Amino acid sequence: MAKVTEEKSLLYEKMRKFISTIDELRDYGLQSFISLPRIAVVGLQSAGKSSLLESIVGYDFLPRGEGIVTRRPLELRLIHAISAEEPYGVFDKHSPEKITDFQKIRQKIVELTDLDAGKNKGIINNPLILTIYSKNCPDLSLVDLPGITKIPVKDSGQPDNIEEITTDLVVNYISEKRTIILCTVQANIDITTSDAIKLARKYDIDGERTICALTKVDLTDIGANIRSILNNEEVALKYGYVAVKNRGPKEIADNVPVSKGLELENKFFRDKYPELIDQGLAGTKCLVDRLSLILSKNIQSSLPSIIKELREKIDEYEQELRSLGTPLPESNEEKIQVVLGLLTEFCNNYSTSLKGKYTKLKKSNEKEPVSVQVRRLLINVFKELEETKVDSLLSDKLIRAAFVNYSSSSLPGFPSFSVFQKLLQPLLNNMIPKSSELVDSVYFILEQTVQEIIDKIFMRLPDLKPTICELALKNVLRCRNNAEKMVDCLIKAELGYLYTADEQYLGLHGSILPIQHLNVNEDNKMSDAFVIEIRERVKNYFMIIYRNLRDTIPKSIGHILIGESYTKMQVELFEGVNKENSLITKSLEEPDIILNQRKQCQSALRILKSCLKKLQEEDLLLEDD
Ligand code: GDP
Ligand code: MG
Repeated sequence: MAKVTEEKSLLYEKMRKFISTIDELRDYGLQSFISLPRIAVVGLQSAGKSSLLESIVGYDFLPRGEGIVTRRPLELRLIHAISAEEPYGVFDKHSPEKITDFQKIRQKIVELTDLDAGKNKGIINNPLILTIYSKNCPDLSLVDLPGITKIPVKDSGQPDNIEEITTDLVVNYISEKRTIILCTVQANIDITTSDAIKLARKYDIDGERTICALTKVDLTDIGANIRSILNNEEVALKYGYVAVKNRGPKEIADNVPVSKGLELENKFFRDKYPELIDQGLAGTKCLVDRLSLILSKNIQSSLPSIIKELREKIDEYEQELRSLGTPLPESNEEKIQVVLGLLTEFCNNYSTSLKGKYTKLKKSNEKEPVSVQVRRLLINVFKELEETKVDSLLSDKLIRAAFVNYSSSSLPGFPSFSVFQKLLQPLLNNMIPKSSELVDSVYFILEQTVQEIIDKIFMRLPDLKPTICELALKNVLRCRNNAEKMVDCLIKAELGYLYTADEQYLGLHGSILPIQHLNVNEDNKMSDAFVIEIRERVKNYFMIIYRNLRDTIPKSIGHILIGESYTKMQVELFEGVNKENSLITKSLEEPDIILNQRKQCQSALRILKSCLKKLQEEDLLLEDD
């Protein structure tokens, strides 16, 4: 016998642990992420829900009255507290005022309902949480829901669609797979037409998680009909039916306490239907035992899947949080530090892409690397000019005209500097537009590169992007202008100062005499030979210039526009940021949408992780998958 009691108390101990652990998870707020096992009390108005709950708890504490008294879900957590000297209730875990007077608890329920749902007969979703500690009550958690109400209370301000509202609220609870539905149905109605049962079956199609309390059995004869219901023959439910007898209106009016009511209930069944008690089909106590067992079994079997869901949710939120990046600091100094860090990252990326090094930053499209694009431009810039028919540009007529027009200060027959310049000009002219086109094309690529990298690195700080972009492009533009000046200068130098140390040229044309081997036809006059010689000299000299510029122009662009744009980028940006300090810190605010999203993720993760930790700490014989 002693062994049996010991086993039983161990079982209760375990049940209590399951139930209280889930209650704790609910306190963390886990219910809004994962549906947790619970019992929801469902029934039509006046079916006897409040009376039944009081019988279960063992005390009078629920508001009574006309119409809908329960106007918001009441989460009732019953703790079988052996050490509690006297029973007490606590409304909020965070302000644990122990209320020992159950009349006060009743008042407080009314007060807190009025406070949140208004004094009118409004109904709200937000549950009230009441924990009751007592030696006499079982370990059980139930949610008392507003009764399904068909007709609004007259002149109460209740809307006409009160049935829809109350039904929706109930559906909210019973549609969740881990909720056990406790249907409260009067015994004196036809069970197959019961609205509560019908609603429960709609969401629990196979009756897998519904149990029914048949109330008011004292008001009907327990004939064959009731027996077949209790035997689960009418509407089959996995957890079956239990008949109860609560206090009737007269007993309540006479202030018969719940404890006395329970005695009367026991006596009623013992006297009239002892076999129902023996079969475990009648009495509040029998119902309570069944509920505790069902709930703890339900919790036990749900725990592995709850843990699985918890882990999945944690993964989900962590991923989301990562995608939002690290939060920005509060202080201005720290904000600037963040910006400087991002700027350094930008500069590194910019210079590696120009140098043609590998970068981790993902390219938006599979474009050719910037360094390759630029190289191609540099190599190809004067390609077409190689084909230039220099001879055709230096016609006899042009050479003669140049002599006539530009030899004024020199002795006729002696070529002057101006003549040479005049003849070189059209050849060089071809290179000028190509050079400035090259500067522009390279600048365009750099501009695009700057924008692309800024877009990625400053993605989280859209307000800052324009300022940073402006600073970076200012630097690139300055380099562009310097490069343009340099290129301009190189071309001007070629035209403005004739000089070469080219040995081949000097060997051929270093003397004033025409080359001997030049074939001058009989018909050609001496002056024609001279024209030919001059053409040859201009042409050869131009080829030297051409080769020079073909290298020096790309080199200057490479050095000044490309090279300096990245070597000077960091200094320029840091200086710019320092100058624009206040503007930058002001625009350094992440958009509200990102801030809120991050906050939500963080708070969700806090909840989910505490819950997972809690479950891992508890020794609940979890089958951890
Ligand atoms: P609720 O609206 O579902 O909460 O119903 P109540 O618990 O307020 O009960 C409505 C009325 O039915 C009250 O007057 C109760 O006294 C009465 N009542 C509830 N259960 C029983 C019962 O088992 N037997 C009798 N005779 N009356 C009951
Ligand atoms: Mg009620």
